[in-house]
Amino acid sequence: MNSGCLNSETVKAKARSLGFVACGLAPALPLPAVVRERYRRWIAGGCHAGMSYLERNERLRYNPDALVPGVRTVISVALPYRPLRQAAGISMYAQGQDYHLVVRQRLRRLMQEIGATGRCFTDTAPVLEKYWAWRCGLGWQGRHTQLILPGMGSTHFLGELFVHQRSDQYDFPLSPCCGSCRRCQEACPAGALADKCLDARRCISYLTIEHRGPFPPDVALEDTFYGCDRCLKACPYMKQAPVGLPEFQPSDRLLAMQPHQWKQLTEEQYGQLFPQSAIERAGYQGLMRNIAQLDRL
Ligand code: SF4
Ligand code: SF4
Repeated sequence: MNSGCLNSETVKAKARSLGFVACGLAPALPLPAVVRERYRRWIAGGCHAGMSYLERNERLRYNPDALVPGVRTVISVALPYRPLRQAAGISMYAQGQDYHLVVRQRLRRLMQEIGATGRCFTDTAPVLEKYWAWRCGLGWQGRHTQLILPGMGSTHFLGELFVHQRSDQYDFPLSPCCGSCRRCQEACPAGALADKCLDARRCISYLTIEHRGPFPPDVALEDTFYGCDRCLKACPYMKQAPVGLPEFQPSDRLLAMQPHQWKQLTEEQYGQLFPQSAIERAGYQGLMRNIAQLDRL
């Protein structure tokens, strides 16, 4: 194990050269009690709905050293995904390739290029990603619960390196800047957003991606059948969101899909439309269940 010291400016420059639009570093200390308690209350209230995996691995989630023994520094990065053109009905984040593949590949390159040792994560382990992004100074959590990067909005995938090396400098968290704004809460058609608290049981994004089984009778999908961006799009900070990587842009084939074609989508067409896509999370059956909910098609 290389136990040397990282130069934080070099790490950030390497991250920029790999397409990450933000990068910050923090000491790999256990999560503060206030953060742990907030998370526990959210779970105890049942707001994580059917995502039972969020209940497990508390020790690993709260203590970086339990997840990666010997870790000294957490490096948090953000990769932009905002599509220039958006295929209707599908969330912005799922228009192109599966972010797990794209982000992980770049995280591994970053690890190599900075000469660090440790592990990379992107939505794949018990890591509170938004906490670490905030702690590393990337941004703050808005009332819609997503991370807002100053001057860049919220359409970013987050990734982390948990490394064994110290850094010559660490970053500081930013203060939240929502002020008196409540636009995201007002834009939510399902009443899923309390202040910085998402009730996944009512969230269209959760219901169309993770949820198995029937929908709550009083939640209407309207024109969305995979994910939901209404709270994100209502946020004034989104005006500044950079365009996402080419990998996250939709194909011409996906953009050409017409509303009536979705209802008749075959499994073979599904495979052609979504090669290596995050939409595989719902699968063909899940997508068709969602499409069947749309009244206006
Ligand atoms: S994703 Fe949609 S349903 Fe979920 S909180 Fe945001 S606006 Fe509400
Ligand atoms: S819409 Fe307003 S309240 Fe919601 S996250 Fe954006 S700035 Fe904050």
